[in-house]
Amino acid sequence: LDIQRAGQIDQASLFHPFTWVEDLKREGPNVITEGKGVRVKDIHGNEYLDGMAGLWCVNLGYGCQEVVDAIAAQSERLSFFHAFNGMSTDVVIECADELLKRAPVPMSRVFFGASGSDANETQIKLIWYYNNLLGRPKKKKIIARWNAYHGSGVLTSSLTGLPGMHNLFDLPIGPILHVTAPHHYRKAAEGQSEREFSRALAAELEELIAREGADTIAAFFAEPVMGAGGLIAPPEGYFEEIVPILRRHDILLVLDEVVSGFGRLGTYWGSQTINVEPDLITAAKGVTSGYFPMSACFISPKLWEVFEAEAPRAGVFAHGYTYSAHPVGAAAALAALKAIDDKKVVENVAEVGPYLHQAMRNAFADDPIVGEIRGIGLMIGIELVKNKATKEPFPASDRVGRRVLQAAAQKGLITRALGDTLVFAPPLVINKSEIDELVQKFKAAVDAVRPELG
Ligand code: PLP
Repeated sequence: LDIQRAGQIDQASLFHPFTWVEDLKREGPNVITEGKGVRVKDIHGNEYLDGMAGLWCVNLGYGCQEVVDAIAAQSERLSFFHAFNGMSTDVVIECADELLKRAPVPMSRVFFGASGSDANETQIKLIWYYNNLLGRPKKKKIIARWNAYHGSGVLTSSLTGLPGMHNLFDLPIGPILHVTAPHHYRKAAEGQSEREFSRALAAELEELIAREGADTIAAFFAEPVMGAGGLIAPPEGYFEEIVPILRRHDILLVLDEVVSGFGRLGTYWGSQTINVEPDLITAAKGVTSGYFPMSACFISPKLWEVFEAEAPRAGVFAHGYTYSAHPVGAAAALAALKAIDDKKVVENVAEVGPYLHQAMRNAFADDPIVGEIRGIGLMIGIELVKNKATKEPFPASDRVGRRVLQAAAQKGLITRALGDTLVFAPPLVINKSEIDELVQKFKAAVDAVRPELG
């Protein structure tokens, strides 16, 4: 590709996801061409420490030879076959078995797809199918939280609690209800402790269920730590309060572990960090470490027993994608799962996650424009504010988060700006000296923007 013209050709041909067209016109794309370990290089040869593991997914880092080799070998042996009409492939069978062995609670089956969005769409259909099989056609509503991110499909965008993904699309549609995000820093009342805030959120949920009728509510979706909606860790007692309410009203709990699965929070599954037993789990991203598009819905015995007993009478689960069991994806996943074990990736996160949080606190705890540092494991968010005491944000039009992101890129660090919250979710193989470098580069980026902030 012509280096000089790459930007022009990009703009003439590519419609980028979630990208303001005028930003791209002004700045051009940053064209990344290669990666190794926790680092990537752009088309001009500049190197970056990738603080976002791509999009929360390249958990094993770039150029993980085991996964690369597995993809090449499987592509050569059998590049594609499906799992429809009684067909299967050896590698997909093995992958399903290995995933079930690693589930945090006993699970009966996995259903494969290609993305987190399609997996969450599948979850909704599994839930509706389940309640129809049980003769409860009214029990269909789904509760999600504001600030949640569950994907870009029409229903998963509706589940997603970000108005920016609803406006201009006439969403949300479907029987979707939203409750307050467990965002203590922004949503708790003055002086309210985390525990009290969690109790208030539980009361809100109880009221919603009473108003709508438990016989109309099928499921509750939650990310263990909310990602794209602002990097929000649950306040103390949150799931302890919420889960018994769901159980009491026979409302299924879906944990969206698209980001948190496979070690990101310092436990193999996010559910183990928050100490919750889900009925359904959505996994994607880290399942192949981002090397191949793949997702998996884990189905608990509670649902599976109903499917087995009732489906012969009522009808087939008429749902699936061409890539609902891609052998190359399965081979990539098998290699990634083995590498996670062999490289002791989860143990690494348990050690370097707290190190990252401490290093950020050391660098920024007293910083007058840092309102809050939050997150768990290798998921961290730093919220910048105009006034630390009052939590007053910078005017949105100042785009402070974006300016820091650009300053970081100039210093060789990739971050992500969720408004004025800068987030990091680096590859899970990152070591302490790379974390020191990440924090130091981020500090330099904040310091570069600071004088412009008035
Ligand atoms: N769920 C969560 C928690 C996510 O963070 C994402 C993507 O970032 C998705 C679902 C959607 O996954 P995908 O982009 O693969 O469709």
